[in-house]
Amino acid sequence: MNRNKQLEKLKNTPQYDICIIGGGATGAGIALDATLRGLNVLLVEKQDFAAQTSSKSTKLIHGGVRYLEQAVKKLDWEQYKMVRKALKERSILLQNAPHLTRPLALLTPCFSLIESVYYAIGLKMYEWIAGSKNIEASQWLSKKKALSLIPELKKERLHSAVLYYDGQLDDARYCLALIQTAEQKGATVINHIQALKFGKNEDNGRLKSVWLKDLLHQTEYHISAKVFVNATGPFADHIRKLANPKLKPRIKVSRGAHIVLPQQYLQGNTAILVPKTDDGRVIFMIPWQDHLLVGTTDEADTLSETPDLEPAEKTYLIDYVNRYLATKVSEDAVTAGFAGQRPLLEAQLHTALDAETKSLVRDHEVEIDRRSRLVSIMGGKWTTYRLMAKDTVDVIFENILKKESPACQTDTQVLFGGVHYIFDDWQHLCKHYAISPASAQHLMRKYGTLASSVLALSHDDNSLLAPLVEGHPFIKAEVVYVVQEEMACSVDDVLIRRLGLGLRDAKAAAQARSFVTQILKQIIG
Ligand SMILES: Cc1cc2nc3c(=O)[nH]c(=O)nc-3n(C[C@H](O)[C@H](O)[C@H](O)COP(=O)(O)OP(=O)(O)OC[C@H]3O[C@@H](n4cnc5c(N)ncnc54)[C@H](O)[C@@H]3O)c2cc1C
Repeated sequence: MNRNKQLEKLKNTPQYDICIIGGGATGAGIALDATLRGLNVLLVEKQDFAAQTSSKSTKLIHGGVRYLEQAVKKLDWEQYKMVRKALKERSILLQNAPHLTRPLALLTPCFSLIESVYYAIGLKMYEWIAGSKNIEASQWLSKKKALSLIPELKKERLHSAVLYYDGQLDDARYCLALIQTAEQKGATVINHIQALKFGKNEDNGRLKSVWLKDLLHQTEYHISAKVFVNATGPFADHIRKLANPKLKPRIKVSRGAHIVLPQQYLQGNTAILVPKTDDGRVIFMIPWQDHLLVGTTDEADTLSETPDLEPAEKTYLIDYVNRYLATKVSEDAVTAGFAGQRPLLEAQLHTALDAETKSLVRDHEVEIDRRSRLVSIMGGKWTTYRLMAKDTVDVIFENILKKESPACQTDTQVLFGGVHYIFDDWQHLCKHYAISPASAQHLMRKYGTLASSVLALSHDDNSLLAPLVEGHPFIKAEVVYVVQEEMACSVDDVLIRRLGLGLRDAKAAAQARSFVTQILKQIIG
């Protein structure tokens, strides 16, 4: 993908079928779905693809054990259906990007017989709802078995444990793979370009165009489209107001923070689920990219462009790590941290207003504003991004374009880098290039079948095979590759979203900055 080529395409397209505002999971999912159904699509993202909530998640592909508990306790059929749908989506996400996902075993420590029976029944139910899409059977584990699986667990008070399975994804790169696949199929996709305001039909207020500002070159574009889709997650109310100032807010943001620790505190591949904290939350401790990811918090917040880990959140999360793990962890051990904002939909619909709502499932909603015809997709979670995209594109065909829709194809569309992916090919990479097994495995997991293209850059310059920073599997060629081929335009685009180093180890990322800056200067000036 080349940003200048995308800008050229933008200039040369008199009218798009759809202009999608927002390049997180939701917008990227819609871009792919709509393109596969034959529409001419433009996607614009103010920052970088997945720069906001979609790179700050807990990276779980899950039905939501907690939602199931609530569904049962409150006999809530809608909640139950949501869990069932998310579990179906889980298998699709795993299947369509094998390089960016993996099944994840999670262990729930139990401190009494009653607790262990409660969780064992609950997790059997979770498995039963997943049906044929289940990953592996859940198991009750004795204290001894639990400790043999996770020797780092605190022994005292432990009674037994329950083991179950969900999925894990590389969220920022999953979003990028959706964007790359959409682009490959014909969509125009541009990052660092902001939707500023809409052009409207004077008679009826209907949207007909949008003014975009390229934030890298400070140039403006005026673009026409038949449909405008608001996929801006936590920022959805801002775009709704631009379209129709009479609309009342629908989004409440809730912040969630994570800390990252060295892998030594929880080795192996099994995660820990703390099912209930003192304040009724769920905390995960998850082996993640050679590190340990711990989160999350859940706190009502005001909208922010730069949510960050707060010291109190760090203390709170470390406290839970120390309640469950035998080795004491100090706050100094934290290598990185990040926070994001969940775009939660307000429960009550403001139907008295100018909006007509299509409540497709309770977790997310596609709204068509009656006056402006802006389509807003709000709520949801990473796991259900594909379903959200499908619902949005269905609504667009039925209610705005008013024509029969071709069938949705995203359930079987393997994403960029995932076609004919075989993880064991890392061994071939090691044979042909002077890199360590850790680097070869890392490249397969980040770039899938494109790992060989990253390494091919060393044919011209062998020094690109060198590690980017000591102690991590990243190599210098990746920096060149992501700037040339993946539209990374800033140091954060490279280190946080494309490589992910900044989210694992902030000090190492700081060491890599000067090399990244040098490459950015050389390639894109
Ligand atoms: C702490 C936390 C943990 C989570 N964990 C999980 C999990 O484990 N599993 C799961 O399934 N879900 C999880 N979620 C939920 C999931 O991450 C979100 O539902 C999902 O990422 C939302 O994606 P989005 O595309 O709607 O929003 P975003 O990713 O925020 O994307 C919206 C984009 O719109 C852009 N934008 C805004 N205004 C404009 C404009 N004017 N012009 C152009 N672009 C604009 C923004 O820059 C942003 O990139 C978690 C969320 C949080 C906060």
